[in-house]
Amino acid sequence: MKISILCIGDELLKGITINTNQAFIGQELLSQGIIAEHSLVVADEALSLTNALDYLFSTSDVVVTTGGLGPTADDMTKQVIAEYLGLSFVQDAPALANLNKYWSKRHERNELPDYVADQAMVIENSTVLQNGQGTAPGMWLKVPDNKFGASKYLTMLPGPPREMGPMFTDGVLPLLHKMGSSISFNKLYYIAGIAESLVEVKMQPIIEELKNLSVAYCASYDGVKLFLKSDSEDSTARAEVEVNNIFANNILPENHTDLAEDVVRLLSEKNLTLSTAESCTGGKIAGRITDVPGSSAIFPGGIVTYSNEWKEKELGVSKQTLEEFGAVSEQCVTELVNNLMIKSGTNAGISVSGIAGPTGGTADKPVGLVYVAVRLNDICTVKRYEFTGNRQSVRDRTVSKALNTLRELLVAE
Ligand code: AMP
Ligand code: MG
Repeated sequence: MKISILCIGDELLKGITINTNQAFIGQELLSQGIIAEHSLVVADEALSLTNALDYLFSTSDVVVTTGGLGPTADDMTKQVIAEYLGLSFVQDAPALANLNKYWSKRHERNELPDYVADQAMVIENSTVLQNGQGTAPGMWLKVPDNKFGASKYLTMLPGPPREMGPMFTDGVLPLLHKMGSSISFNKLYYIAGIAESLVEVKMQPIIEELKNLSVAYCASYDGVKLFLKSDSEDSTARAEVEVNNIFANNILPENHTDLAEDVVRLLSEKNLTLSTAESCTGGKIAGRITDVPGSSAIFPGGIVTYSNEWKEKELGVSKQTLEEFGAVSEQCVTELVNNLMIKSGTNAGISVSGIAGPTGGTADKPVGLVYVAVRLNDICTVKRYEFTGNRQSVRDRTVSKALNTLRELLVAE
């Protein structure tokens, strides 16, 4: 089954709005073992839209559109598509009820105006996807056979990502699954702490053994996503056993998709606590930890010791260390983490100090140089990195390395 994505909206072409809908849908499809066939962006303009549909339906079985379903004059997706397919509109009672509810909450006595009520008009014979977060319903419909002569489907979703997301996941994905047999057996793993190239090497024997298994990788600073796909359930099941063996210590548990989430899980399971002392990351590690619901049980807090003065004043790094070795040094992060753990009384501590750039580098200490100290009880590891990339990526890589190092210590404990 081939699926394409069509995002509609002038603001996307102008670069004013970043096309996060494409990324979201692409990732959701990928998690089901489907790689989108094409993705296009078009303006809120009839001919651009129908030309794009002609093109996409020439190869795809399903086209997912986002945008242009709202009540304003520039929103024209469903009108253009109804005309394109030669279909008319009917009123959807649940969508109208949702609109009334939504409207009365915000406008008390005022009646629902026609231009808003118009959103409850849906294309005939479509499956209506109710909008739990907003007003415009989505639609799923079979393209009339006389249009392309084969089974083609089109689904329309509203543009706002917080509305579109759940409608795609809860509404469209089950419908794709219902179409059935052509969805292959697939598995997605999150592997932490191993480089993509090494994941690939370790996968080689499985790939050679299971000929009909297709394997794909997607690397990020946090780790590697590993996708397995096969038409045979048996192959996927066998691959699953082997992958779990090979990467035993590196695979995040099922339903865990985030490194920080896994660190919080491991700390919670082991009844341990963590504190942080951050310089070049300015609180990003604490941010990642506190993004995870329930992190308060394991994370009393973190300190951003950005200046030398604060490293000294707040966490007792000695003047001598700062003068002799500098703030970006093994000695400094070691003192930071040791004093942090005395002060906080936590079982684990992370400290980082580095030069994120773009300025501030020297021959000895270039931009991208970062020291990361991670301590778990009495075991302390200090690592020196020379990261490439801009300020943002140096900082993000530092966060990932720190979390990965702590994860490794926790798994080995
Ligand atoms: P619409 O359904 O076209 O009225 O879209 C409403 C809002 O959703 C727009 O103002 C955008 O900010 C947002 N939006 C639309 N399409 C996208 C997209 N592809 N990615 C992210 N945001 C979008
Ligand atoms: Mg729009």
